[in-house]
Amino acid sequence: MSKPVSRIGTVFLVGAGPGDPDLLTLRAARLVMNAKVLVHDGLVDPAILAMAPKGCRMISVAKQRSRHTMQQNDINALLVREALAGHDVVRLKGGDPFVFGRGGEEAEDCFAAGVPVQVVPGISAAMGAAASAMIPLTHRDSASIVSFVAGQCKGLTDQNWAGLAGVGRTLVIYMGVATADAIAEKLMAEGLAPDMPVAVVENAARPEMRVLRGALAGLGVVVATNKIKSPALIIIGEVAGRGDMMELKKVMEMAV
Ligand code: SAH
Repeated sequence: MSKPVSRIGTVFLVGAGPGDPDLLTLRAARLVMNAKVLVHDGLVDPAILAMAPKGCRMISVAKQRSRHTMQQNDINALLVREALAGHDVVRLKGGDPFVFGRGGEEAEDCFAAGVPVQVVPGISAAMGAAASAMIPLTHRDSASIVSFVAGQCKGLTDQNWAGLAGVGRTLVIYMGVATADAIAEKLMAEGLAPDMPVAVVENAARPEMRVLRGALAGLGVVVATNKIKSPALIIIGEVAGRGDMMELKKVMEMAV
């Protein structure tokens, strides 16, 4: 009699969105609610983790800037090991797995080991922040280009951001809080106007969200004086200064 083929689990790379559980896709919510093994990083909101069923094995691989509790290679190996042991793994990530989420690296290692992978997109922080802070990323009067960049990356000064920011464009910077000053200097050195509007959105789509506005030249000061902490996004471009829609919204709500 031939030996039964042992089952290989699937790794689901699932986007958890920016925080609010209401911003999960139905597919993500279903996977979390039925998970037996759930591997998550530090950005995933506790309210989402609380949706996992009793008995679900929860593994945190929380990574914080400059303090990696688990190296990326070890995370990849963990996913492969669990799947080869026959477990379906819900790998939950903040935002979208394929936007600064290292989902590509995890998927590649899984495929290389013969482990099937499915990707469930999530609302990336840029979309979450734009919606909650009332900053349209594009607007027919203000921006027809939007770019996402990582502010904390190898050799910030060597990064070529030419043409990504300026009139008619929106630049969204992930992981840029620690280097906000250097980012502003870099962009101004590349010719951006010092009075270009900027917005900093901390904890987007969470109850403790803060939105701070200013001009490019003062970006570092805004971040420092308000003690902005990760997770936060920096949005640079005319859209960040459009008539402060948050205020208009408040005025309208008070009038109703
Ligand atoms: N995959 C994620 C990004 C991970 S990189 C996504 O698609 O959103 C981590 C960075 O994302 C943080 O440093 C921060 O810049 C941004 N970020 C994630 N969640 C955020 C939130 N709720 N509010 C503001 N920025 C957030």
